[in-house]
Amino acid sequence: MTHVFYRQLTRDYPSAVLGRGITIRDATGKEYIDASGGAAVSCLGHSNPDVLAALHAQIDKLDYAHTGFFTTPAAEELADEMIRHAPAGIGHVYFTSGGSEAVEAALKLARQYFVERGELQRQHFIGRLQGYHGNTLGALSVGGNLWRRKPFAPILLENVHHVSPCYEYRGRRIDETPQRYGERLAQELSNKIDELGGGNVIAFIAETMVGATLGAVPAVPGYFKRVREICDRHGILLILDEVMCGMGRTGTLHACEQEGVTPDLLVVAKGLGGGYAPIGALMVQEKIVKTLTEGSGFFQHGHTYMGHPLACAAALAVQRVIQRDNLLTNVKAQGDHLLRRLGERFGNHPFVGDVRGRGLFQAIELVADRGTKEPFDPARKLNVRIKQEAMDRGLMVYPMGGTVDGVRGDHVLLAPPFIVDAATIDTVVERLGEAVDAAI
Ligand code: PLP
Repeated sequence: MTHVFYRQLTRDYPSAVLGRGITIRDATGKEYIDASGGAAVSCLGHSNPDVLAALHAQIDKLDYAHTGFFTTPAAEELADEMIRHAPAGIGHVYFTSGGSEAVEAALKLARQYFVERGELQRQHFIGRLQGYHGNTLGALSVGGNLWRRKPFAPILLENVHHVSPCYEYRGRRIDETPQRYGERLAQELSNKIDELGGGNVIAFIAETMVGATLGAVPAVPGYFKRVREICDRHGILLILDEVMCGMGRTGTLHACEQEGVTPDLLVVAKGLGGGYAPIGALMVQEKIVKTLTEGSGFFQHGHTYMGHPLACAAALAVQRVIQRDNLLTNVKAQGDHLLRRLGERFGNHPFVGDVRGRGLFQAIELVADRGTKEPFDPARKLNVRIKQEAMDRGLMVYPMGGTVDGVRGDHVLLAPPFIVDAATIDTVVERLGEAVDAAI
């Protein structure tokens, strides 16, 4: 083991030394197609010349200025660009260094909003089982992945409650239409709110499309509209976490556009900077910032590196390239191609129960039995084996898995960069098919 350590302490990681377009090369010269964008991060691929030029130009001018003293042109221009394309009503941006930090900021801003309004009794958050919002303690508390929470359960936030995820493949009853299923889930949320008292709840938080824990799961049509109505009825804030599914990944800049809802707080990260620098952001409705501005005039929060000029300059360049090159059109077109190819390769596969996703955010779910949807035994560590088999074949995918709470199975997430072409997708699906068959 070297001096640095990551998640897996017993594994020797290959050393990545070069990134070009859609591939990463390791120190031995082996090349990997980056079909997961790391973890849905690299939306432009690696070493984009426009982003590199923007980073060089920024570092030549200003490396860092603390936000306790200054704003910077990079932060201001990035915020302007984001608001120009934001859902109506969202008027402000608060920068962080990543997704978990942005979720923490969302939770604290939501609470402070009600403190400023004198609604001190609002002390509860509601999240969803199987949701993932990050690994810091607040984000882990509102997340609902039992495996990630378990060792830390005694030190998580107390006033957090969870309702069922919208997970059609496993959650919808055979006699239920998708619409009826969505209504049942909305009713469950409504019942939970009634139990807590509507005036005692700060916010409901959900991923617009569930990423890391379930694998590219969209909600059924109408679900989020019902959720929005329920939150509005009780004055509860809606926080949508689009750290993974946002910034163009599903074919629209924000995944919530496809649901026809605007959250009060919209959390973005990975694709914002595309991996060129660590950055996340909290996009906020005007009414919330106005309440603080006219109240204490102070958001009681902050981090040393928030709004870092290099991160903002990189993200601004990434977002401009996406707009200039009309890359969301490619996300939609290649997303359709990817879904089609996954369907052809895995649609009748004996151990693939579901193929799903939107845009370049797709997954397959693996099952031991297609009829009963029984998941594989977690002891088989299928996710670890698929990842290794894929890496051996020069392919990066993002498998997650193991049944920990009775409902979750193994899945493999694909999130290639927005510049991917059809021929590369064909190679990705071919190598993934071989890796899955070898691992099972
Ligand atoms: N929220 C969602 C939906 C995520 O998928 C992630 C990371 O995978 C996070 C939050 C945490 O982001 P980060 O790893 O940048 O802290």
